[in-house]
Amino acid sequence: MAIVQEQELSCKQFLSRPKKMLIDGKWVEAESGKTFDTLNPANAEVLATIPEGGKADIDKAVNAARKAFEHGPWRKKTAAERAHCLYKLADLIEERSIEFAQLETLDNGKPLKESRFAAPTAAGIFRYYAGWATKIEGETINANNSFFTYTLREPIGVVGLIIPWNFPTSMVAWKLGPALACGNTAILKPAEQTPLTALYVGELALEAGIPEGVVNIVTGFGPNGAGEFLASHMDVDKVAFTGETATGREILKSSLGNLKRVSLELGGKAPNIVFADADINAAINNAMTGIFYNQGQVCCAGSRLFLEKSIHDEFMSKMIERTNKMRQGPGLDEKTDIGPVVSKEQQERILNYVNIAQSEGAKLACGGSAPGGDLEKGYYVKPTIFESVNNNMRIAQEEIFGPVLAVIPFSTIDEVTEQANQIAYGLSGAVWTQDVKKAHKLAAGIKAGTIWVNCYNKFDPSMPFGGYKMSGYGRELGKQAIELYTNIKSVWVNLGD
Ligand code: ADP
Repeated sequence: MAIVQEQELSCKQFLSRPKKMLIDGKWVEAESGKTFDTLNPANAEVLATIPEGGKADIDKAVNAARKAFEHGPWRKKTAAERAHCLYKLADLIEERSIEFAQLETLDNGKPLKESRFAAPTAAGIFRYYAGWATKIEGETINANNSFFTYTLREPIGVVGLIIPWNFPTSMVAWKLGPALACGNTAILKPAEQTPLTALYVGELALEAGIPEGVVNIVTGFGPNGAGEFLASHMDVDKVAFTGETATGREILKSSLGNLKRVSLELGGKAPNIVFADADINAAINNAMTGIFYNQGQVCCAGSRLFLEKSIHDEFMSKMIERTNKMRQGPGLDEKTDIGPVVSKEQQERILNYVNIAQSEGAKLACGGSAPGGDLEKGYYVKPTIFESVNNNMRIAQEEIFGPVLAVIPFSTIDEVTEQANQIAYGLSGAVWTQDVKKAHKLAAGIKAGTIWVNCYNKFDPSMPFGGYKMSGYGRELGKQAIELYTNIKSVWVNLGD
């Protein structure tokens, strides 16, 4: 097997260093001395022991970030100097692409085929926002000739960044990139399942010359832990969160004390709609990556596949054949197409949805269980497809966050538009057709923040991303994220006597 052996790992040195949190430029243990283990989902072995940050650590990190914001050198740097630090950080991350790929695979489970893009993607986002740092502008407004009136676009202050475990490296960049470019200081709380790459970025941020206290990283848990203490802290000016919709609601509640700014990028249940006139092979390829990429643990996963009835049977037989050929195994095996899901808890949750689907009358077309055998110890779920699904069933309405596809047949464009929108979520959707009219009608008709036409999972740092409905609010990436991390101030200067 072309599997990378542990002794050959490029990230071995990083892994062997004791793991600490970054507060005020120093690497520290939790005040309580508590720790937790982060596990390799491919075999349930302990990868590293991580400090369990609590209230005292969040207080310390918030104080450090406040001091760095009000009195530290970050805001006093010119925009070009801030940009320079971010470009440097991007270079350092990209130079270590192999280490990042291995760490992301070890911590999250995803195949190297996917994790090798983690560092280049993060570097691209940091570069994009480095470019923005020198282009953040207010306006002069001709409100009244007796006054000079203008706006200032200012950093918000101390920002809390709470990120999930599905894209541990690029999520750091989605949040830290714009936050730092705008001149804020930050406390980053990585997910407890996947803290390693965020800590590695912390090391590189210091090396890139980002001053102490500007980037603080507190590891730990969510409820009644570092996450909740950060979201509820009275001296945090904004919290940006990516994760489950239910957790988003908790974050919002926690934010009420000081009415801090909140942006939420939450769950999804994307409709992926294939018309009979589509390029069927391309649609099959993308239906599969749409649901099996990252083991389906993607907020924009194409988890509801709508197939026009006339192509349903042909499409299904080809897709099932190809799904059954997917190679499942540890992410460190270069040949692996689909790895384990992130945790035992996630594996159980997904398998429970398989039972729910069957009890609701959906027909299992492939997968539907843990593979067992050599993979017994890891948290694997076979790539799973259900057919004869009705859009009202729980597997069509609830976010499973796993490699489970619900296939729903349809007859007309009006029917499919209505069903696509009969859902609490609105993060993304896709349409496959050669008919430009249908494509545009659905691009306008689907209530979601991103629509892909004849493609899937396309991202670029310049394209805004975020949700309609219960998929959250605020747009990340693009220039919209600059708005998310700044305040506007209106200034009136009296020119009269
Ligand atoms: P999952 O339940 O799949 O682990 P979540 O959306 O709950 O995903 O977690 C995403 C991030 O939110 C993680 O960093 C987690 O620790 C954090 N988190 C979870 N619950 C809370 C909470 N109540 N307050 C603040 N952060 C939380």
